[in-house]
Amino acid sequence: MLKKITFTVLGLMIAMIAAAQQPVALPPLPSSVGATYLIRAGKLIDPEAGTATDAQMLLVKDGRIVEIGAHVTVPTGVETIDLSEYSVLPGLVDAHNHLALTYKKVPENDFYYYTYIQESTALRAIQAASNGMQMLSAGFTVVRDLGNNGLYADTALRQAIEQGWVPGPTLINSGIIIGGIGGQFYPTPEMVKEHNIIYPEYLDADTPDEIVKAVRQNVLFGAKVIKICVDCKPYPYSVEDIRLFIREAANAGGLKVAGHVQTEEGARRAIEAGLWSIEHDIALTDDLHKLMAKKGIWRVGTETPFTEYRGTQERFDKTVAGMKSAWLRGVKMAFSTDADYWVPGLTRGEVVINFLKSWKAAGIPDKDILKVMTVNGYQVCDIASARGPLKVGFPADMIAVKGNPLENVDVLRSVSFVMKDGLVFKRDGVMTPERFLHGGPVNGWRLH
Ligand SMILES: [Zn+2]
Repeated sequence: MLKKITFTVLGLMIAMIAAAQQPVALPPLPSSVGATYLIRAGKLIDPEAGTATDAQMLLVKDGRIVEIGAHVTVPTGVETIDLSEYSVLPGLVDAHNHLALTYKKVPENDFYYYTYIQESTALRAIQAASNGMQMLSAGFTVVRDLGNNGLYADTALRQAIEQGWVPGPTLINSGIIIGGIGGQFYPTPEMVKEHNIIYPEYLDADTPDEIVKAVRQNVLFGAKVIKICVDCKPYPYSVEDIRLFIREAANAGGLKVAGHVQTEEGARRAIEAGLWSIEHDIALTDDLHKLMAKKGIWRVGTETPFTEYRGTQERFDKTVAGMKSAWLRGVKMAFSTDADYWVPGLTRGEVVINFLKSWKAAGIPDKDILKVMTVNGYQVCDIASARGPLKVGFPADMIAVKGNPLENVDVLRSVSFVMKDGLVFKRDGVMTPERFLHGGPVNGWRLH
């Protein structure tokens, strides 16, 4: 009997391990059922291997990739998409964005505290839907959205995309940023004590009980990653506090914890606690990079390029030096932008893709930049086993560009074709969102 049970348990364990290694077998999205495409790729780019294979075909059915090769079985009634003059590659990832926040010169002089006061969550949610489409058009099929989104506008956008109301990237959203009292704000006592002005832009959590409660609130309201302010105030979280966040996020849905870090001491604590990702490069030194590489902590540096609309040469030199230091030491790095502002004349996607300037200035080879923007992106979003790479069984998210991005990553500045969940969002450089728009939750009403 004992033997039989042992064998049964062993069998179950093997089955579980096998299941864990398979891509998550999700049912097809009803919005893409029946959509069958044969894509002829001039080159098929594998950013992981750093290879380009000529003349490949991808068969896409019901939202997923069902076959890839020089020859595939072509069913009748299939629509052919001729990308034989293009390189086809998986979608790009911005690992730090704020789709429901866009501050601007007028009226708030680029000061986002005023954006928060003057624009409702409802208005910002609509803007987020627009920003999401602008990102998708630029080839970003995944966005990790890290807070400052009012009262869960990020969750609302994710649900709207997943339910099939509007097109948009796959969102890994954080809900409200959790921090010690005040978050990143410096308001008056009367505004805090009489008007509770910190909330909902930040969620105060100063004690262990409040930390657990804050994580659970975000999970209840749809967060897929937890974002904390490690050291926004002179009362930073302790190593124990950060560990509690990590434990509770793991407990509450297996989420990872991303930390805004702006001081060396904060970074040291975050590293010691084993945080998943450090957001922003501002505090990171050579020594800290060494520690991050050793512990496998993600560097989501949000490295802003120096442009006519942003930054200074001095700050940019520091940014580039930091990127070189991290790259040299083998730190895990993600393409990330902290994009939350309007540059007249540019879409949110164009603002974001311009961050290529920083990566190139750091002397990182083009093929490695592409890997950071794809493979590393899926990993830092913790979705790599289910979405991202162009593999049979995976959701059909892909883009096409002229030229070979492994040799010249700047070709990503002009994305001609975008497919998301097996539907064509952009073709010949023109957005074609019709198949994504539905009057109701065509993919099913989603609780989370
Ligand atoms: Zn940010």
